[in-house]
Amino acid sequence: MTLKKSKKILHMSIVIILLVILIAILSWLALKKSTSVSMENHEVPQITLTGDDVITLCSLDDYIEAGYQAYDKVDGDITNNVKVTKTDYFVYYEVTNSHGLSYGTGRILRIKDDEAPVIKLNGNSLISLNVDEEFVDPGVTVTDNCTEDVKVTVNGNVDVTTPGNYVITYEATDEHGNKASIKREVIVNKKDTKMGVIYLTFDDGPSSYTNKILDVLKKYNIKATFFLTNSGSDDVIVREYQEGHTLGLHTATHKWEIYSSVDSYFNDLSIVYERVKRLTGIESKYIRFPGGSSNTVSRKYQTGIMSTLAKEVEDRGFSYFDWNVDLEDAGSCAYKSNKEACVLNNFKNGLSKNRINMVLLHDIKSYTANALEDMITYALDNNYVFKSIDDTTPTIHQHINN
Ligand code: ZN
Repeated sequence: MTLKKSKKILHMSIVIILLVILIAILSWLALKKSTSVSMENHEVPQITLTGDDVITLCSLDDYIEAGYQAYDKVDGDITNNVKVTKTDYFVYYEVTNSHGLSYGTGRILRIKDDEAPVIKLNGNSLISLNVDEEFVDPGVTVTDNCTEDVKVTVNGNVDVTTPGNYVITYEATDEHGNKASIKREVIVNKKDTKMGVIYLTFDDGPSSYTNKILDVLKKYNIKATFFLTNSGSDDVIVREYQEGHTLGLHTATHKWEIYSSVDSYFNDLSIVYERVKRLTGIESKYIRFPGGSSNTVSRKYQTGIMSTLAKEVEDRGFSYFDWNVDLEDAGSCAYKSNKEACVLNNFKNGLSKNRINMVLLHDIKSYTANALEDMITYALDNNYVFKSIDDTTPTIHQHINN
């Protein structure tokens, strides 16, 4: 073997060794690549939609993305890669993973209004009126899921001049033709022709407000009853008498001590009895107990005094009168911001035509004087007549509690 030949063999061996190494490296790389490909799944990524698959909308503009998430086994969360495409009927979501595999899903948009408007009555579903009373329709309130453009039609009318039952139907129609309706019943009542009787009884006066009260009574030619004390002006008592009102006795001092004994009561009563007699010649037989016969304050002064006095006054020829309508003008109305309204309201609510109305008022209260004309016009409009106490008047006795 020549040196030249052996060199050549050495070169070839090195080349072969290098080739073997190269093949080994390439094989290793190929193996590595094929292993990693099999780890990198051949599975498509997934998209999960939040919300409904089918969404009904009034218009496409109303669509608010309800949300989605995309996940790939190898890439992990790929939500940010999701492409969202919106058409008139469809929202399409598509995502591709790092291996080039894609997945798509979507949801359907129904551009449709099939919801009826919501219609509600303003005011009561049943309205009751007296004949010839004005009817003001309180109307309805309408809302709709899609539009503010809702037409309301009203069917049926109310003839306030003819008593009867009327039905009003309100129908709401939205711009897509969905309808809703609601009814209201209106009853027009016959004129209340039943008469009622009112006795206005004023306690604790006379006072500086009594003349105003007398002016109003005079204007309407109404006679009332005054349960007098020893206060106020003699002239007012004379005027009450001259204008035809009934003069009753309430006690002179109106102090609770009068209930200490039978004598203390009658001693006090006699002072106002004599006052009235001196001014008018009238020997009044009509009494109202301070606090009424049902008062319990008197217990502090003598147990059983009201039972005793109730019998005793009658034995002595008097009649005592309590009341069945209390305007609270010396009670709760005194603490209200609108005292006149309070008094008037108690008057209206207290009246009944199924009995006489013995109304307790106090002519020492300015707001009672102020409210009197409204009370009278209300009562006259509602077929009440006014009377003053006389011997034929029912006494209206409350339950005695002491
Ligand atoms: Zn009184």
